[in-house]
Amino acid sequence: MSTAPTTRPTSAPARTNGDVSFWYAADGLPARRPALDGDTDADVVLVGGGYTGLWTAYYLKRADPSLRIVVLEKEFAGFGASGRNGGWLTAALPGQFRRYAAAHGVQAATAMQQAMFDTVDEVIAVAAAEGIDADIRKDGELTVAVGEVQHRRMLAHLPEQRAAGWGEDDLVTLGAAELGDRVRVSGARGALWTPHCARIQPARLVRGLAEVVERMGVRVLEGTEVTAIRPGAAVCRQGTVRAPYVIRAMEGFTATLPGHRRTWVPMNSSMIVTEPLGPGVWDEIGWRGAELIGDEAHAYCYIQRTADDRIAIGGRGVPYRFGSRVDAHGETAEATQRQLAGLLHRLFPAASSAGIDHAWSGVLGVPRDWCATVELDRSTGLGWAGGYVGHGVATTNLAGRTLCDLVLGRDTDLVRLPWVGRKVRGWEPEPLRWLGIRGLYVAYRAADRREDAGLGRTSLIARAADLLSGR
Ligand SMILES: Cc1cc2nc3c(=O)[nH]c(=O)nc-3n(C[C@H](O)[C@H](O)[C@H](O)COP(=O)(O)OP(=O)(O)OC[C@H]3O[C@@H](n4cnc5c(N)ncnc54)[C@H](O)[C@@H]3O)c2cc1C
Repeated sequence: MSTAPTTRPTSAPARTNGDVSFWYAADGLPARRPALDGDTDADVVLVGGGYTGLWTAYYLKRADPSLRIVVLEKEFAGFGASGRNGGWLTAALPGQFRRYAAAHGVQAATAMQQAMFDTVDEVIAVAAAEGIDADIRKDGELTVAVGEVQHRRMLAHLPEQRAAGWGEDDLVTLGAAELGDRVRVSGARGALWTPHCARIQPARLVRGLAEVVERMGVRVLEGTEVTAIRPGAAVCRQGTVRAPYVIRAMEGFTATLPGHRRTWVPMNSSMIVTEPLGPGVWDEIGWRGAELIGDEAHAYCYIQRTADDRIAIGGRGVPYRFGSRVDAHGETAEATQRQLAGLLHRLFPAASSAGIDHAWSGVLGVPRDWCATVELDRSTGLGWAGGYVGHGVATTNLAGRTLCDLVLGRDTDLVRLPWVGRKVRGWEPEPLRWLGIRGLYVAYRAADRREDAGLGRTSLIARAADLLSGR
């Protein structure tokens, strides 16, 4: 569907702000499933009804249909980041290869990257096999270098990516003209294209997954907040679910659980989406495929062309709230909306007069070393996965398959990947946490501004911020 955009002042706030996310606008928020109703027993209980919890339930039930599996979800399945993200089903693990390689060797780190390549295709295959229509299209990902400094930085990172297992076919360098044949991004000097990424409609994937696992016999209980997790039990106001395996799958919401305030910080990410753009605008932009587009800025952005011909663009906004507070329904500050709209107009001037239909935000989990983990402690039966640092759409599937193998005690390649059982220290107490994270993003934005203003090289501010943060 394509309609001509109405001309509106570009600074106008979005027509809808929050309401969980734009991805629910067409289909509506799902009707609530029943809540937990008193104490019960299960074989495995998953806390959190996002991709992590649902993929884990899916693979466990598929492996052993006799397992009694319960998913406990505070709101509804897909309320969190899984129903709000940018729809990048990507194999990228930015910066993580280096850390996995340093701690576990290059071979282990390369195996992790290969597993991520396979994961993108696994999600697509399961969605097709289970009849989940999530607007999936695998046209790859374009990392666009906007300006000379970003271009040099992009090329400087290339050898590290090659070492991480991204061969010539996995990562293709494009000059400005070749990029222009695919999409015209203002100021672009070149790009990297990888086939290992697909566009998805996030809420349709999570909604479809929840329906699939329910049909398989998993109990998905909504409106059920877990107030404590302990060996053998997930405790809720409505009762306790006793199970030998209790898996924490709350990612950005983990800090709200007693004892986990410093495990992973809830980092905020915000998005806006335009109204549907008309054919004239698309002709000017020249973006005919469904490639996901990002840049090489320090405070980077992520962009998708939606199935209904809009542009959705996201970035960090207000990166972190004091005390690891999480947002509720995704309302987004007008200043953040303006920032994102400004960036959209800078990259795609042809979209400058398009109205903004929706703005929303969500939280993702960031560990102190910016590396995801998956773990099952066999002595307590407690497990978890998360800390995907904004790259959870594909990684949650790998986590689900890995948790399945760990719970079933299978000795597979997956349980030997370097993120399994990785020990990470917690974040600093407040106010250090707030000062550090806010300071980091002030530094990254300042670095981007200096580079945009003609600094001619990667800003030392950004290098120092990377060093200090361990990013
Ligand atoms: C705006 C945004 C854009 C993003 N874009 C991308 C992208 O394009 N590509 C990518 O790979 N990643 C992206 N991410 C990250 C990705 O969406 C997440 O890493 C992933 O969805 C995490 O899934 P999850 O199931 O672990 O967590 P979530 O989807 O957050 O699920 C956790 C669930 O736990 C529930 N919960 C919270 N507290 C409790 C409690 N006490 N008891 C019971 N349940 C509870 C929540 O309601 C929620 O449904 C983005 C994230 C955001 C916020």
